[in-house]
Amino acid sequence: MRIAVLRETAAGERRVAASPETAKKFAQLGADIAVEAGAGLAASIDDAAYRDAGASVGDRAAVLADADIVLGVQGPDPDTLAGLKPGAWIVAGLDPFGQRARVDRYAALGAEAMAMEWMPRITRAQSMDILSSQSNLAGYKAVLDAAAEYGRAFPMMMTAAGTISAARVFVMGVGVAGLQAIATARRLGAQVSATDVRSATKEQILSLGAKPIFVEAVQGIEGEGSGGYATEMSDAYKAAQAELVSSHIAKQDIVITTALIPGRAAPRLVSDAQVASMRPGSVIVDLAVDQGGNVEGAVAGETVERHGVKIVGHRNVASRLAADASALFARNLYNFLSAHWDKDAGRPALPDGDEIGDAIRLTRGGQVVHARLLS
Ligand code: NAD
Repeated sequence: MRIAVLRETAAGERRVAASPETAKKFAQLGADIAVEAGAGLAASIDDAAYRDAGASVGDRAAVLADADIVLGVQGPDPDTLAGLKPGAWIVAGLDPFGQRARVDRYAALGAEAMAMEWMPRITRAQSMDILSSQSNLAGYKAVLDAAAEYGRAFPMMMTAAGTISAARVFVMGVGVAGLQAIATARRLGAQVSATDVRSATKEQILSLGAKPIFVEAVQGIEGEGSGGYATEMSDAYKAAQAELVSSHIAKQDIVITTALIPGRAAPRLVSDAQVASMRPGSVIVDLAVDQGGNVEGAVAGETVERHGVKIVGHRNVASRLAADASALFARNLYNFLSAHWDKDAGRPALPDGDEIGDAIRLTRGGQVVHARLLS
C-alpha cells in the first residue's frame, strides 16, 4: 500500500501534506511512503528529513506510480495524474465548488476524491478538521499582519516621555480564526471587542477578556445553523448590525474580519463609508478575502489604502506560517486515515454509510457521487 505525497503547484502555496512525523507514523502502519522531491522545502522540511523518517523521495511520476493514496494540501492538477491507479484516493482540500471541473476530471481518472474541508463537525472528526487547524493559525497571523502595518504600538505604554494608549481591535466573526485573533490581540496588549451572529460566542468573547458587541434590537434571531455554522441573516438583522458596526468601527484602530457562511460568498460587513469613518493609519485585515471578502474595497492578494486606512487582503494566510500549518494539516490527514485503517487489508477503508466517508467522498467508480455536487 503506497501513499504518495505531492509537491504543491498552486501559486503561493507553501504547505505540504505530510511531515516527517506523519510519514513515520504511516510507515509504522505498514504503508510505503513516497514523497515528491522538494515537497517540503517551502515549509522548511528537506528531503533528507523525509528519508530519515522512512520515506522514499523521487520525481512526481515515480512517486505516483502504484500510489493507492495521494495526499495534497490543495487538489493536484489532474494533468499531472495520468496513469493513476483506478480506485486510488486523492485526499486534500479540494475546494469542490470552486474547482468543480477538476472534480469531474478526478472522476474520469477513476479516483476516489476526498474533500477534507467537508469533514463533518462531529466530536470524532475534530482531530481531522483542516478548516479548524488552518483557521486557528490564520487568526493569529492576521493580528501580526495588522500589527506590522500599523504605525503605532498595540499595548498601552507609560514612559518618561509620555503615555501611549492601547490599540483598539475589533474582531468580526468569532469562529476558530476569530477566537485566536482575540487571544492574540489581547496578548499584544490591545483593547479588544468582537461580534458574531451566533449568540453562543458572547460567552467565549467574555472568557477571553474582550467586549462583546451584539445586535440586541432584533428579537427572535439566532444566527446558528447546522454543524455550528452561521446562517444568512434577515435584512432587518443586517440593517441593525450595520448601524451598530458604524458607531463602533469609527472608534477602532484595527479591524479583523473572519466571517464566513458555508457554501455562499462571504457576508459584506464593512462598507466603504465605514472604512472612511476610521481614523487615518487604521488597519483592516480581511481574512475572508479568498471567499469574496467582508470588506468593501479589499483586494485578494494585495494591501490597498482607502481613505487613509490600509486594507490587508493576503490570500491563503495559513500558508504564511507554512511550517506549523503543514505540521497540523499533516496530522489532520494522518488522523483521518489512521482512524479508518483496516489492519487486515493494510489500508484505510470507508464503508458506505460511514458518516465521514459520506460527507467527504466526491467521486467513485468514474462518477461524481456527492449530493452537494449533483443538486
Ligand atoms: P466560519 O469560518 O464558518 O465563520 C467564521 C465566523 O463568522 C463564525 O463564527 C460565524 O458565525 C461568523 N459569521 C458569519 N456571518 C456573520 C455575520 N454576518 N456577522 C458576524 N459574524 C458572522 O466558522 P468556524 O471557524 O468554522 O466555526 C464555526 C463553529 O463551528 C464554531 O462554533 C466552532 O467552534 C465550531 N467548530 C466545531 C468543530 C467540531 O465540532 N468538530 C470543529 C471546528 C469548529
